[in-house]
This record gives sequence, C-alpha cells and structure tokens, in this order.
Amino acid sequence: MTVNNLRSPAKVNRLVLLQRIVHEVSAASDLHEAARIIVKRVKQAMRMDVCSIYLLNPADQTLVMSATEGLTPVVAGKVRLDCVEGLVGLVVTRSEPVNVRDAARHPRFKSSPQCEENPYHGFLGVPVMHRGEMLGVIVVQQAHAQRYRDTDVAFLVTLAAQLAGVIALARAAGTISLFSSDQGEHEYYVDAIAGAPGVATGTGVINFSPALLDSVPDRVPEDMQAEEAALRAAVGAVVTELRQLHSDFEGALQPEDRALFEALAMIASSHTLVEAAVDRIHSGNWAPGALRETIAEYANQFATIEDPYLRERARDIEDIGRRILAHLEPSENEQIDYPARSILVAEDLGPVDIARVPVERLAGVISAHGSALSHVAILARAMGIPAIVGTAGVIAVSQLDGKELVLDGYRGRLHVNPGSALVDEYSRLIREERALSRELAHLRDLPAETPDGFRVALYTNAGIQADLGHSQAVGAEGIGLYRTELQYMLRDQFPGEEELRVVYRQVLEAFAPNPVTLRTLDVGSDKTLPYFPVEEPNPALGWRGVRFALDNPVIFITQLRAMIRASAGLENLRILIPMVSSVEEADEAIQLVRRTWEELVKEGETVTLPPCGLMIEVPSAVWQASSLARYADFLSVGTNDLTQYLIAVDRSNGRVASRFESLHPAVIGALQHVVAVGRQQNIPVSICGEAAGDPAMAILLLGMGINSLSMSASDLPRIKSVIRTITREQALSLLNDVLQIERAAIIRELLTGVLVKAGLGGLVRAGA
Ligand code: PEP
Ligand code: MG
Repeated sequence: MTVNNLRSPAKVNRLVLLQRIVHEVSAASDLHEAARIIVKRVKQAMRMDVCSIYLLNPADQTLVMSATEGLTPVVAGKVRLDCVEGLVGLVVTRSEPVNVRDAARHPRFKSSPQCEENPYHGFLGVPVMHRGEMLGVIVVQQAHAQRYRDTDVAFLVTLAAQLAGVIALARAAGTISLFSSDQGEHEYYVDAIAGAPGVATGTGVINFSPALLDSVPDRVPEDMQAEEAALRAAVGAVVTELRQLHSDFEGALQPEDRALFEALAMIASSHTLVEAAVDRIHSGNWAPGALRETIAEYANQFATIEDPYLRERARDIEDIGRRILAHLEPSENEQIDYPARSILVAEDLGPVDIARVPVERLAGVISAHGSALSHVAILARAMGIPAIVGTAGVIAVSQLDGKELVLDGYRGRLHVNPGSALVDEYSRLIREERALSRELAHLRDLPAETPDGFRVALYTNAGIQADLGHSQAVGAEGIGLYRTELQYMLRDQFPGEEELRVVYRQVLEAFAPNPVTLRTLDVGSDKTLPYFPVEEPNPALGWRGVRFALDNPVIFITQLRAMIRASAGLENLRILIPMVSSVEEADEAIQLVRRTWEELVKEGETVTLPPCGLMIEVPSAVWQASSLARYADFLSVGTNDLTQYLIAVDRSNGRVASRFESLHPAVIGALQHVVAVGRQQNIPVSICGEAAGDPAMAILLLGMGINSLSMSASDLPRIKSVIRTITREQALSLLNDVLQIERAAIIRELLTGVLVKAGLGGLVRAGA
C-alpha cells in the first residue's frame, strides 16, 4: 500500500490538499514525524525549494529547527536561534507573516553556517500560534529573489492555523520531548474544563472501549510471545467472523455486495498488516497498542489517496481494527488492578465505569468528552471526587495510562509527570483542604449572618439523590435548585407521573418544612435525552428549557402533576421555570402550572398552588426582569447560562473555558439590575448558578443585598465563612469600587486580596 503523491496546488483543490495534510499530520506518531510530514508536503504543494519548521522552546525562548526539506537534513534539531534572531525571529516578534523578496539584503538577515541558507533569497515565514501562544514558525524559501503572492501567503497562514492545534496536541501529549532527552517523561500541564472541584494526585488508569481504538494506551508487554499469540488469535477470530458473515448473507445480499466481507477478511489477514503489528509488539508495545498504531498508519495511507472510493476504505480498516481489538480486550469480569490512588481516564466516562472502581481507590476522573454539566461531572461532584472533562483536543487519552498525574478540578488543569516540588505543593493543598473542611464543619449549625447582622439563606443545588445527604451534611436550609432533567437523562424513555412523584416526594420530605425548589425540565443544548435526540445547528440557542416544555405539553404537564402531587401535605414545594426569554413564555408556563393545580384539585387531590419562579439566565430576561416579575412569585438568576449568553462564551467548550468569567463587569451589572428590580417590585431574588459558590462573587452579592443563595454542597461552608466574616457595610463599599472597574481580572484580584486580608485566603479557589 503506497500513498499517492500530492499534486500541485494548480491541479488539486487547495482545501482538499489542506485537509489531507492535516489528516496525515494528525496520525503522526510524534511531533518530529509531524514536522517532517509538514515540511515535505508543503514544499511539494507550494513548489518551493525549501520548507522548514522551527519550534519555540518555551523554557529558554530558543527556536529549534525541527524539520527541513531542502536544507541539509542533519541540521534539523541542531539549529537553534534566539527567538528574536534573524528573519525567523522577526516572525516571532511581530506575530505576523514576513514576506521578503531578497532575504540576504534584509537588515535582519542572519546567515547560519550550518544550514547553507545563503543561496536562498525569496523568504516567507508564518507564525504558528495556538490560542494566542507562539509555538513556532513555518518558513518557505526560493533560490531566486521573489515576493510571494497573496495566495501563497494565505495558503501558508491557513495551513499554520490548522497545524497549530495538531502541534499543540502533539507537544502537550508529550509523545516526544523536543527540548530534552527524557522523551515522553517531561513535566507539563494542559487546561480543560473543571468538572468537579478538588485536587487529586495519583496514577492514570485508562478505561477504554473497543469502540474507541484511538483511546488504547501504549504499554510495555510483559510477555511478547503471549502478546503476539493473542494478536494472531484475534485476527484469526475476526477473519472467521467475516467469512461467516459472507456465508450468512447468501441469498439476502447480491454476490457483489457480499464480496465486501471477503475483501475485509483479506485485509484483516493481510500479511503486511499483521506483520507490521507483530513488529511493533517486538519493538516494545503490547498487542492493543501495536494494533492501534498499525491501523492508524494504514487507515491514514488510504485516507490520503485522491480516489474517493479508495479513500473510503480507510473506514474499513478502522472497522477491522475495532473488531480485532474487541477480541483482544480483557473480558468484563477480568479484574483490573487499580492502583491505590487511581485517576480514571476515558474518552467518554459513564456512571457505570466509575462505579466499577473500588471507591477507596478512586482519586479522580478525567473524561475526554463532556461538559461541566455532563453526567460524569455531576456524579463526580456528588461523590466529592475531583474531575476534569473536555480534554479532547488538548491531550490524547492514550498518553495518560500509568502516568503520574495531578488533577486540579478547581481550574480544570491536569499536570502530567509532575515533579516532586509540584506534587509536594499539591499534597500540601490537599492537606489544607481537609483541614479547612474540618475547620468549617463547625459552621454547620450556625447562621449565615454577617458580623453586622445581615442574614442570608444558604441553599444547595441538587440533581441526584446522593446530593440530598451532602446538602444535609453541610447544613443547607433547603434546596434552591433541583435539576430535574437528570432523572430524565438517566432513563431510556420519558419517566411516568408516578415514577417522578416518588422521586420528588423523597426530595421534598428530606427537607420539609424547609423549601425545595424543583426546576421544570431543562433539556436541550448540552443536556440531551438519549431516547429523544434533537439535531440542531446551534443547540444553545435552540429548543431548550421552557421552549421544549411548552412545545411538548404532555411531557411538561406530566412533570407538573408529579411535582404538585408529591407536595401534598408538605407545603414546601416551589416550582422554577428555566430559560425564559419572553413574557409570553413566562405567562404560558405559569398559567399551565395553575391549570394543572386546578385539575388536580378537581380530581380530589388536597394540594396547594406552589409559588412559581422564573429563571433569569438570558439577556432578554435581564432587561425584561421588571415585566417578568409581575407574573412570578420569585426570580432566580442562573449565572452559568447568564454568563454564557451575556459574554457569548460557550460554557461547555474547553477552548474558551479560560474566558468564562462570572466576575465580568457585564455580568455584575446584569445581576445588579435584577436585584434592583426585585427590590422595587418587592419580589424575592436569589442566585443559583455556580458563581453563588465563588467566595469572591459572594462579597459582591452581599453588597447587592442578596439574601438567598444556592450552590453546590461542597461550596456552602466556604460561602458561609465569607458571610460570617465580611460585614455588609464592607461588602457594599467593595461593590461600589468594583462597579468602577472595567476588567474582570482586576476585579478578581481585588476581591482575592480582600479575602486573603480577612484571613480567608484558604477559601480562594486554586484557579481563581
Ligand atoms: C444556570 O444556568 O446558572 C443554572 C443554574 O442552570 P444550569 O446550570 O442547570 O443550566
Ligand atoms: Mg441554566
């Protein structure tokens, strides 16, 4: 199997060309190989005399030539430039392309004796940047003097943008250390989404599924002969399986269609493929890892072929790989030896995967996919286990197997191969956390009241039954937000009225006579129902929350009936409507609550009409808060969505996670407006998004005069401690200062300083 040579850009559509290069580079086994592919392909595609890649070593700010095509190849890895030196350095300092007709005449030209640059005149250098960070420079050169055309510059810029992600991933994955000799074992970190708070140190344990060949880790085989035998047996089993399918479909499929199974069996048993995998076993990888590498190599060769039919065969090869892997997998019953402090890692962790690990050995979890609101994050929070989610694109799961890790679930940061200084630092943090929790435990039965007598009611957010115990343990005064969608997400069909009534009754009884706010179904966006898939181009702005409920009245009314019936005799139910964006929606939803109650009364149920509140979590609701307030009994601000929609930062996108900041002045302004409306119209306002559990934000909310907050149970003791330390007067004056500040970072700095000064430094989130 050979790869077709790339044709010139004139003959092949440049987009296809780009996709092909990116695809090929993504499959490279390490960063050096990726760089070599890039220079080779770019030189060919652009018909240049030279193409080279320089990567920036952040440790000493030098540019290292990583690969070259056109210059003497031995110079790769040897040429090191100061990052401000020469024309390549100019690309770095300017962070923009440098297009020079005759390099030798440019004042910044610096000849490097090792790389015989002198004969080359036309120079084009383009920065490779990932999320604002300089990673390196791609350079093309021509023997003759020439200024490059705009289309060439645009091509290289596009390529650099595409490759930046791949290079960042390869660098973060540590498949090779460019700048030190300890390949793959250097210390580094990556940032993703904070899934559940807390810090954990431990060893990565991969939970991989045969459906996800890519997540198979590399492992050193204990017995190469046994691995080889297992591989050959698995291939044999797949070949038999495929031949069986070939005969099973006799009569049902046309002979030419059935021939596909035979063709697949031939590929699976092909000498080249099997021997390539066996070679890899003997080079030191176990059978599943050797299979993953081999399948990636062959699938990639097909994927880069121009002929669309042959290109499609890449999928067949991947399918064969998955089938072979399924035969190599340890059986479900086989006991995995979990290390004492296991950090469970997977592409897509589910509750069952977590439940399989003995709880005393589970230190943390990492899921490549998912958001802060996905099951894995919610379950981890409920179990008090630190979690990071959404690591896909920043680190490959297969790189974490058996690695020493430090997981910072506050800021979503994962340290790989941490040095002893870092481990000591985090171990100290873990000890301090435990000491703090013990210290704060005595606050459980004390009121959340400022030293100057301002009382705040502290509630918790819940969604599964396990949350109820945690909420009681921290002394919650009720449930301020019960996310009912989780009951729907964990089933395989819409739950019935009685089923829901039983669950709601347990929640209401657990806290009676204290209030429990049950939020009506808030599905859509990233909270999807497995049995009701909705494909939308822009789901965050789509069929979610109250919009979905109003368009599906049977589902909505079933839920309302269950809630109201569950409250019979308890009188502590409050109903909250999510994602309201207009008066029409608010009016219709609240009328439906009233009508449902009337129906139940007519049916003879002894139930009272519960107070009905509206969530303020989109900008239109903020600016219509005073109109909405006329329909509702209370308002509850959801700062998670409000932040997402006000500053247009997707709350479940790891790429922009660092920009998600509820202390943004626009969010603070919106909160202030809603609180002012509540005061004018004498309607209670509470806050139930994650920001309510942020000690810095708590000071501002105190200043605004908010007297009801709802947060994760794990955050409640800290917030109570802030409230019992900072006076309302001090908070008010700080709020006035903050309202003059235009930048979130400065606001956070100011408030963190206040907390530290008040002796509450330990409460400041590690990432804050
Ligand atoms: C919010 O958006 O702030 C909120 C509390 O709701 P959820 O996080 O469930 O969307
Ligand atoms: Mg919300």
